Amino acid sequence: MGRTEGSPFQRYLEGLHAELKGLNKGQVADYIPELAKAAPSNFGISFATIDGEVYSVGDSGIEFSIQSVSKPFAYGGALSRLGTEALLTKVGVEPTGEAFNSIVLDQVNNRPFNPMVNAGAIAVAALAEGDTPEERVAGMRRLFSRFAGRELAVDEAVHRSEAETGHRNRAIAYLMLNSGMIDRPPEEVLDLYFQQCALRVTTEDLALMGAVLANGGVNPRTGDRVLGAAEVRDVLTLMMTCGMYDYAGEWSYEVGLPAKSGVSGGILAILPGQLSVAIWSPPLDTIGNSVRGIEACRQISRDFGLHLFMNAASVEDVVRRVASARDQHSMRIRNPRDRDILLEVGHRIAIVELQGTLYFASAERMIRRFDALPDETRYLLLDFRRLTSIDPAARRFFSDFLRRKCAEGVEIIFAEVPGHRAEVCAALEGLVAEHDLTAIETFDAALEDCEERLLADLRQPFDFTSFSLNKISLFSTLDHSELAVVETLIHPVAYSEGETIVRRGDEGDILFVVARGTVSVWVEDQRGSRFRVGSMGPGQFFGEMAALGGGRRSADVVADESVVCYALRSVEIEDLGQTHPQIMTKVLRSLAQEFGVRLRQANALVSALK
Ligand code: GLU
Repeated sequence: MGRTEGSPFQRYLEGLHAELKGLNKGQVADYIPELAKAAPSNFGISFATIDGEVYSVGDSGIEFSIQSVSKPFAYGGALSRLGTEALLTKVGVEPTGEAFNSIVLDQVNNRPFNPMVNAGAIAVAALAEGDTPEERVAGMRRLFSRFAGRELAVDEAVHRSEAETGHRNRAIAYLMLNSGMIDRPPEEVLDLYFQQCALRVTTEDLALMGAVLANGGVNPRTGDRVLGAAEVRDVLTLMMTCGMYDYAGEWSYEVGLPAKSGVSGGILAILPGQLSVAIWSPPLDTIGNSVRGIEACRQISRDFGLHLFMNAASVEDVVRRVASARDQHSMRIRNPRDRDILLEVGHRIAIVELQGTLYFASAERMIRRFDALPDETRYLLLDFRRLTSIDPAARRFFSDFLRRKCAEGVEIIFAEVPGHRAEVCAALEGLVAEHDLTAIETFDAALEDCEERLLADLRQPFDFTSFSLNKISLFSTLDHSELAVVETLIHPVAYSEGETIVRRGDEGDILFVVARGTVSVWVEDQRGSRFRVGSMGPGQFFGEMAALGGGRRSADVVADESVVCYALRSVEIEDLGQTHPQIMTKVLRSLAQEFGVRLRQANALVSALK
């Protein structure tokens, strides 16, 4: 069973295909003799999403020549090589309202009207890169293959057929040579253009090529950036105004999507940021558009409300969650005193998780949410893991906001900057550098950092010299004489920064109490990635599971800085049970209490993750 089988999109396409199969109007183009051979019954539809999923129905695997649907891609390629300004001197951007093959040229500006009609596309072909005709053809094929994500070939029969009969295009090319609009030999330029039109594609290919445009220029399957975002915008604009021959106005009114059609019966329509739709059905209406193709696009647009001006109104909320350090704690295991401080003043740390796309309007809404945070907010911790894009307008407003907040003395911490999204990552790193912010890789470490800074402002500094055993929760219920007994069992051990104190899998027969510095607990997942799951400071203990329960260490514990621990051997603890059972009972009771606290913390975390 195919991956898409049974999906509602697939079922929708099947219904649409079945309904339109019976629409037997139109004529297969015959002015290029080879095209006349196409079967009128051929009919395929494909949808491609911006993450490269394709849904297809009918003859979606049969190749046909791309014809004019190639024009936007060739124009995009020229834009990325030559830039808008240079290209505008050679080809305009005005719709003509004339037929695709009209011989009307913009005499005032000495250029064809736009690159979606033959004259403009031939002028674009005259700008191809490469020193020889062969190199130019190879370059054209390379460009189209990058869009499709597979090697595309030229249909030689169609190429030859058009080269032999394409006298109207020949006339256009010579006329342009005469007016100095092109300066290469017309026959050679035409041959490149005819080969481009004769590239063999299926609707699946076309849909994927369209997905590159819908996806801002990046091929979703190969990850190849074929066009820049500004070039995609220019290409889509021309598809919107000039893509459907002299039907462009009515098309924009009714369907409202940038699109391009071709005489072999192909139509490609783009819903920017979402998907593309490719249709192939050779019979054409009198304007030269595929009859079934037009009808299918009309229905799809109507059924799903895809007209671009229909979607323009919604602003996405990029703020996924707002919390404070009162509601959520880092994995750091804390003594009761620090826990109390955080419960009391944790609201000074605001935690905001962002999602989706930051653009002009969503940034405005986000900043309004930030400004509504309590006045006491001293730390603003931003979690970016779900942010998918940030455009220049949003970056600018965000930067202004950060400048203002920094001036007010709010500390801003960026966490989980998504390294796999190059553009988001570059924008956020730019903001960090610009405003000298703190960026911390994991959310937990960032939250711990905020907590530490807040606590450092508020708690009495920990005095190691007067550190005594009863500050350790495990021994806090022991009286003087009992403490004196325990003291004889304790061995201080020093560790330097980065040193592993306990290693996962080792036999564990020592219980450690942190006397100075902090240590972190690390575990490994099934794929071998290491995660920091908690940390401990003075007064906290670790290694108790293996030391008291027997067995092996379940995690690594590493010194974050120079650390002093008190070590207690399990044999000595056992002896203590024999010689001083009352001490043992008290210690075990404290241990059970501490476990209760840790369990409650773990439960809170699990429910926060739901
Ligand atoms: N190769 C065809 C021509 O130049 C393309 C026309 C089209 O698809 O509109 O006539």
